[in-house]
Amino acid sequence: MNELYQPIETLSGVGEKRAAKYHKLGIHTPFDLLYHFPRTYIDFTHPVSVMDAEMGVNCAVKCRIIRKMPEVHAKNRLSIFTMIANDGETDFTITLYNNPYTFRAVQVGETYFAYGKVQGGWTRREMRAPQLQKAETALLLQPVYPQSVGLTSAMMRTNIQKALSYLEDAMETLPTALMEEYRLISLQKALQGIHRPAGIEDLEAARRRLAFEELLLFQLGTLMLRHRSRTQTAYAMSPQTSLDDFFCALPFSLTGAQQRAIAAITKDLCTEVPMNRLLQGDVGSGKTAVAAAAAAFAAKNGFQTVLMAPTEILARQHLQTMTDFLSPIGMEAVLLTGSTKAKEKREIKKKIADGTVRIVIGTHAVIQQDITFFKLGLVITDEQHRFGVSQRAALAEKGGHPHKLVMSATPIPRTLALIIYGDLDITLLDELPKGRLPIQTFAVTGGYRERAYGFIKEHLDAGEQAYLVCSMIEDSEQMEHLQAAESYAEKLKSGAFADYRVGLLHGKMKPQDKDAVMEQMKRHEIDLLVCTTVVEVGVDVPNATIVLIEDADRFGLAQLHQLRGRVGRGSLQSYCILVTESKNEEARERLKIMSRTVNGFTIAEEDLRMRGPGDFFGSAQHGMPPLMQAAFSSNMPLVSETQDAARKILERDSQLSEKHHASLRLAVLRLFRKNGENGLN
Ligand code: ADP
Ligand code: MG
Repeated sequence: MNELYQPIETLSGVGEKRAAKYHKLGIHTPFDLLYHFPRTYIDFTHPVSVMDAEMGVNCAVKCRIIRKMPEVHAKNRLSIFTMIANDGETDFTITLYNNPYTFRAVQVGETYFAYGKVQGGWTRREMRAPQLQKAETALLLQPVYPQSVGLTSAMMRTNIQKALSYLEDAMETLPTALMEEYRLISLQKALQGIHRPAGIEDLEAARRRLAFEELLLFQLGTLMLRHRSRTQTAYAMSPQTSLDDFFCALPFSLTGAQQRAIAAITKDLCTEVPMNRLLQGDVGSGKTAVAAAAAAFAAKNGFQTVLMAPTEILARQHLQTMTDFLSPIGMEAVLLTGSTKAKEKREIKKKIADGTVRIVIGTHAVIQQDITFFKLGLVITDEQHRFGVSQRAALAEKGGHPHKLVMSATPIPRTLALIIYGDLDITLLDELPKGRLPIQTFAVTGGYRERAYGFIKEHLDAGEQAYLVCSMIEDSEQMEHLQAAESYAEKLKSGAFADYRVGLLHGKMKPQDKDAVMEQMKRHEIDLLVCTTVVEVGVDVPNATIVLIEDADRFGLAQLHQLRGRVGRGSLQSYCILVTESKNEEARERLKIMSRTVNGFTIAEEDLRMRGPGDFFGSAQHGMPPLMQAAFSSNMPLVSETQDAARKILERDSQLSEKHHASLRLAVLRLFRKNGENGLN
C-alpha cells in the first residue's frame, strides 16, 4: 500500500524526465496517477471490415497477419515496413514508417487490432501507421488520457498498470453498508475498471462508484464545515437595532429582493451561532447596498466589519460605494490594500486594533495578514466569480468566529449551489433595480466589425462610453488571430478611433496604473477602453453603454455574462456585441443563448446543460477530477443520492470520528487539503 504514496519516480518505468512531466500535471505519486482519469476510450468492441470502414476516419479493424514484406530502408532515413493482413474477408496492406520495433514484434498468423484510418480504392485497401495490438491481450476499451506535452496515452497506460498492481482491498474508503445500499463496486475494482475496463458495463460501474465517492466526499466536507461553524458561539447582536436612518439616507429605494436579503442577514446576526450566508446576485443586482446595511447593523452593535475584495480596483469601488451609503449616517470606512503606504497602514492598523474604525475594506491578501481587530463581528467576502470552500474555511478561523457573508456575482444552478456552497445558507438577489433596460446582445462575425465601430462611435458622440474586450495582452505567434489588447489599442488610436480618447487596461499593468485608468474611465476622460478580462471585476461606470467582446467563443457563458454586466448599470439602453470567427456549432449555439436572455440563472442552467459543471466548480479551485464532472452532468440523480447519503452518515457521526469511518474521514481531508489550508482537522 505504501508504494502508492512514494514519489512518482519510484514507479518502474518513470525516470526523472517523465516524473517532471507528471509533476506539471499535479501528479506526484502513483496514487495521484490512479486519479488521473481517461478523457475517453477507443472502442475495439465493434471492429469493422476494411470494405465497410468509413474513409479517412479512425476505426478499429480486427485482422490476421498473413505475410511480412522485406524491410525497405530508403536514403532519406525513412524506413518502410509493409505487411499483408486479412480481416476475414479481404486482404489489405498495413504500412508502418520508421517503426522497426513494432514491425519486428508482429507475429505472422496472429490476430491483431489495427486502429487508424483506412485508405485506398475498391481493389486495394491500406492502413498507414495504424496502432497495433494483439487481439488476445488487447483492452477492448482503450483509455485515452488528457493530452499533455511529452506524455502519450501509451506511456500513461503502462505506468498506470504498474500503479494499479499496488492497490489493495484495505484502501477502501466507503463503509461496506453504504456500498451495499447504493450498489457500488469497491474502490480497487473501480480504479481498475476506469483504467482497464473489461467492457462498457464495467466502465459504467466504475464511473458511478468514483463519481459517487467524489460527490459524497465533497458534500461530507461542506456539511462538516457547516456543522462546525454551527456549534461555535459568536457575537449575537440586538434585534432592536434600527436601520431606519440608513434606509432614509439611501439615494434610492431598495428592491424587494434586497429588503428580503437584509432581513435574513440581520436575523442571522442576532443569533447565537455565526451567520454563514451566501448572497448570490447577478451583476448589478445591488449586493453592495446589502453589505452596507449589514455593516451598519454590526457597527450599531459595536462590532467591526471587514469587507474583502479580490482586486484593488474593486476594493476601492467598495470603499466609494460604502462611503456613499454610510457617511450620511456618520459612519466611516477605511481602505487597506497592497498600495497603502507603510506609515498610513500602521496608523490604520492601530485604529482597527483600538476600535476607532468600524468598517474596513481591503483586498483578501492584505486583510489576511496580521491584523488585530478590536471586535470583529462580521466578515464579508466579495468572491465575484471565484469560490473555494477551503478559502472560506480558512477565513472562518479569523478573530473569534465572526459572522460571515459571502457575496457572489456568479449565478449558478440551484443543484450545484447546494453542493458548492453546501456549507452556507443561500440568499438570492433575483431582482434588478427598477428602471434598468435589458442589455441588447448580438453575436456577429468579424465582417461586421466596421459597422460595429460605426455604431460605437455614434454612441460615443452622444457622450456615452464603451468597452472593447480582447482575450490576450500581447500578440503571440500561436494566438495570431486573437485581437491582442496592446496592439489593438494602438491600431484603434491611430485608425478608426483617432478622434476619440482610447484607454488601455490589462492584467499585467501595475495595480496603481490600473486604478488610474479605471479612475479616468469613471471621470469620463476615456471614451473607449480597450481591455482584457480584468475589467470583469471592474468598476461601475453607469455611462458605459456598449461592450464589444472579441473572440467571444473563447469565454465561458458565465464569464461572458460577467463581462456584459459591465454595461447596463445606468438608465441608458446598453448593448453587448459578441464577435466570433468560430465555425464551431456548439460555440455559436452558446453565443445565441447570450442573445436570448439576460438572466444569469437561465444562462447558468444552459451552461451546465451544454458544458457540464466544470466551469462552475472552477477545477483549479479544488482539483475536482474531470471524471466526476462528466459523470455528474449526465447523471444528476447521483447528486441527490450522495446528498442523502452524506446527511445520513453525518446524522449518526457528525465528525466521522467512529472507527468504521476512519478512511472516509481521511479521504474527505485529502480532498479539502488539496489547496493547502482548510478548516477541517
Ligand atoms: P453588484 O450586485 O453587481 O455588486 P452593486 O452593488 O455594485 O451591484 O450595484 C450596482 C449599482 O446599482 C450601484 O451603482 C448601486 O448604487 C445601484 N443600486 C443598488 N441598489 C439599487 C436600487 N435598489 N435601486 C437603484 N439603484 C441601485
Ligand atoms: Mg459588486
